[in-house]
Amino acid sequence: MSKYFSGRFSSLTPYVPGEQPRDMQYIKLNTNESPYPPAPAVAEAAAREAERLQLYSDPECLELRNLMAERYQVKPENVVFGNGSDEILDLAFQAFADEAHPLAFADITYGFYPVFAQKNRIPYTEIPLKNDFTIDPEDYRGFPGTIVLANPNAPTGINLPLSVLEPLIAENPERVVIVDEAYVDFGGESAIPMTKKYPNLLAVGTFSKSRSMAGGRLGFAIGNAALIADIETLRYSLNPYNVNRMTAAAGAAILKHDDYYMENCKKIMDTQAWTTQQLQMLGFQVLPSCTNFVFAGSDKLDGETLYRELKQRGILIRHFSLERIKNYNRITIGTPEQMETLIREIQKLLEVKV
Ligand code: PMP
Repeated sequence: MSKYFSGRFSSLTPYVPGEQPRDMQYIKLNTNESPYPPAPAVAEAAAREAERLQLYSDPECLELRNLMAERYQVKPENVVFGNGSDEILDLAFQAFADEAHPLAFADITYGFYPVFAQKNRIPYTEIPLKNDFTIDPEDYRGFPGTIVLANPNAPTGINLPLSVLEPLIAENPERVVIVDEAYVDFGGESAIPMTKKYPNLLAVGTFSKSRSMAGGRLGFAIGNAALIADIETLRYSLNPYNVNRMTAAAGAAILKHDDYYMENCKKIMDTQAWTTQQLQMLGFQVLPSCTNFVFAGSDKLDGETLYRELKQRGILIRHFSLERIKNYNRITIGTPEQMETLIREIQKLLEVKV
């Protein structure tokens, strides 16, 4: 740290992204990327825009915005885009939380929430998940601030049904509920239709996972026009060109070929079911996941050992050192072949260990 670094940030612990080692070719099952490439038309749309990089991007992302509005049956003014949903979450935290309106989120959830809260100097409460790693909405009832829920949750993969979530939104019209739906396309139930009914509901989404765009960085929020306008005020106060030309064009092309991506989600969920079954047969406890990853742990092989041993064998999975989940690993669902390799390697490890 330099002596010039602002005291406001000197105790900030930044988010640690999933590792991207370059020392060898890994089977990458650690950052919940899609194993499937973009549709050819998407790569072509981005390449066409690459020839016009001398021009700023459209701050309104008009084509993309109109296509999103059509896809999700909302109006263009109900949508805002970000450089990944991380940016949207950061803007939403700034917009709807402060000293007087603290944040509440689960103790085991997306690791960026406490970082954004700390960076923006927003007090927060971490609410423990139940013993079975589910969220109990009762625990959030009466909380005098802004609630953030990843649904399905990460890294657990567990989905909270909308029927359980809705009362939390309905009973608290004075505070915003942010629902982070990064993984919803894999089998969750989106809260987007409910944004028409509840002006305090903000649904946040991303093209990173279900739409093979992690490297393109495209996130969004959908909500009541007034909530979106608040986020726009902050976005225009930071970087109106936050979505670059290539990404905006790719996003529009994706929505024109959305069937391809939704089919990929189905394929991934078939592979997820197979992987879950195989891991269970090997004695793993696997949480019920509605996402493109599974959260699994075994008494026969502790979480960190499994992570380390697989890395040596060329497979990356995500290990968290948090006490409560340190015996688990989050494993992204890749192609069927990649998952067969994973299971084979775990089998070999167990033969050695038991
Ligand atoms: N929310 C959750 C729950 C996530 O796991 C992620 C991915 N790390 C994000 C948001 C952010 O994704 P992105 O910035 O790539 O849109």
